[in-house]
Amino acid sequence: MLNRNVFTFTAIAIALALSGCAKDASTPDPSVAEAPAAVSTAVDGWDYSMPADQLTALCDQTLETAKSQFAAIEADTSEATLESVYGAYDDMGRTLQKMQHVWHMKSVHPDAAIRDTATACAQQYSDFASGIGLSRAFYNRVAAIDTVGLTESERLMVTNQLRSFRQSGVDKDEATRDKVRALRKEITEIGNRFDQAIREDTRYVETTADALGGLPQDYLDAHQPDENGVIRISTDYPDYFPVMRYGHNDDLRKALSEARLTIGSPQNGETLKELIAKRHELAQLLGYENFAAYSMDGMMIENPANAKTFLDEVGVALKKAAEKDLSILLERQHQIDPTAERVQVWQSSYLSNLVREEQYALDSKQVREYFAFDKVQQGIFDLTESLFGVEIVPWQTQTWHEDVTAWEVRENGEAIGRFYLDMHPRENKYKHAAHWTLRSGLKGEQVPLSGLATNFPKGLMEHNQVETFLHEFGHLLHNMFSGTQEWFDITGMSMERDFVEAPSQMLEEWIWDLETLQSFATNAEGQPIPAELVEKMNRARYFTTAMNTAQQIFYANISLAFYSTDPAELDLLASLQALQDKYSPYPYMEGTYFYNNFGHLNGYSSNYYIYQWSLAIATDLFSRFEEEGMRNTKVAKEYRDLVLGSAGSKPAAQFVEAFLGRPFSTQAYIDLLSNL
Ligand SMILES: [Zn+2]
Repeated sequence: MLNRNVFTFTAIAIALALSGCAKDASTPDPSVAEAPAAVSTAVDGWDYSMPADQLTALCDQTLETAKSQFAAIEADTSEATLESVYGAYDDMGRTLQKMQHVWHMKSVHPDAAIRDTATACAQQYSDFASGIGLSRAFYNRVAAIDTVGLTESERLMVTNQLRSFRQSGVDKDEATRDKVRALRKEITEIGNRFDQAIREDTRYVETTADALGGLPQDYLDAHQPDENGVIRISTDYPDYFPVMRYGHNDDLRKALSEARLTIGSPQNGETLKELIAKRHELAQLLGYENFAAYSMDGMMIENPANAKTFLDEVGVALKKAAEKDLSILLERQHQIDPTAERVQVWQSSYLSNLVREEQYALDSKQVREYFAFDKVQQGIFDLTESLFGVEIVPWQTQTWHEDVTAWEVRENGEAIGRFYLDMHPRENKYKHAAHWTLRSGLKGEQVPLSGLATNFPKGLMEHNQVETFLHEFGHLLHNMFSGTQEWFDITGMSMERDFVEAPSQMLEEWIWDLETLQSFATNAEGQPIPAELVEKMNRARYFTTAMNTAQQIFYANISLAFYSTDPAELDLLASLQALQDKYSPYPYMEGTYFYNNFGHLNGYSSNYYIYQWSLAIATDLFSRFEEEGMRNTKVAKEYRDLVLGSAGSKPAAQFVEAFLGRPFSTQAYIDLLSNL
């Protein structure tokens, strides 16, 4: 689900400038570039052969230039207009955009010296960027802009900027600002302490070989008993998940689950209370009722009351479907223990796996045969081309590794964006899947540039990897199609952060569609994936979705409740138990303290709702394709123009409404969940 956006102080989309040379151009992958309509030799991109010392020099020099540009903005005493303030600000953005590349290079460049240099440069840049958000002089300039006569988008740009200044406290008097600074420092330290206590607390359960029935042989081989016959199982994921999924022994699963749910205890109980109290104090100092109100200001959801309503609606709607999932699991548990009354948290994954194997028998080996990497990539390109009326052609340019391919998106023969795909694993490369905006497009001035990094095999892929490919490619397409505005702050993916996942989540639907799959998913003999197999995959797809979503709603409610209650009245355990009763499919497990190891309570704070919220938007957006056809190019064009093409020039609710012809509603998501 990752989309790497670098900036937090403002939406300014600083990206890579035309820079470097195209010497040593890499050859496009012949398997996907056969008989290309065209090849782009555009000079664009980056000089990946630049040695570390030159990169350092470039980084320093660019920062120096940007700093002097910013000093001039702060010192400017001319009349504050959009042109005089944002014109200069965007000029600084043009200087800095080449630096955006370092965030990408520190994760994917094969040369350790370059990665280190890029990391140091990214840090320097982040420090400078946070200083901009705290500049009183810059705030005064923006606040002085007369917004009469501006377009709605330009007014939105100024409003957003002023809001983010308010959130940083820069509009307050000196004494308050000192207090804000001190509080922020404390919050960061407490948050680090909270995270560290989780990271460093590995717990163990001691057991014996006869309790490991059901676990795969490689797991048993890696867990040999010591001289006393004792086997230690840790709470780390590679140890934990196989036991929870495959281990027949209920006591072992229970003990391990209990150990995992007490990580960070007891110390994080106090740390978390401190974190919540300091954040509450900060929010009140900045004029908000609580921290949830502060962190939802500027989001599509707007405020904690809306978040509460949303979570409640979804939580209630999926109850029946979640109970259906649970009753299937309970029935299965009765074959093991006829006296069982409820499915417990440590039984859910194990029972789901049993039922999945017994009732949804899907042979993943058979599924993989239809997903060779090259065919999948070509299939995703073809889908993009046919839906959106564009062409994807190889782009001959320098890259950082022989596995990396480079591409240009064209429309009516004109380049509208370029991107790199770095799709296969290698040592020292980023381990997950993510999209980087290397440059946002600016109307009439520059086309967008993106980088995608994943760790897929070069041969056969799992279906969930194909889904991830399309998801990340969805972020990439969002960047390609959103370079429509003239100002950095409202172009590219600069809309509300709780919207950003929705386009990618929606695109995942196509990878479950028979017609789409049969257009590219063929086995070695060239036979398309059978309809019965796709049907089977779709049946298995939604088993336990309601139950798992209920658990997500429970987590989101914890996140919301902890940060929207007066800390003086907040009893962490009582609140957890009440929310668990109301939302979770499983009863509370005595003696455990989930919040002490729920790391997102630091990172996401109150906003864990985001994933569910954007799923609800994705489902609503998809409803038009569902009604009018997944191959309907008219709908796709409207989607591209009205939703993706709006970039950040309008509130997300407005462009979603423009596409749907009615306001966004959570009903489609609720219907989906309640009819499972
Ligand atoms: Zn994502």
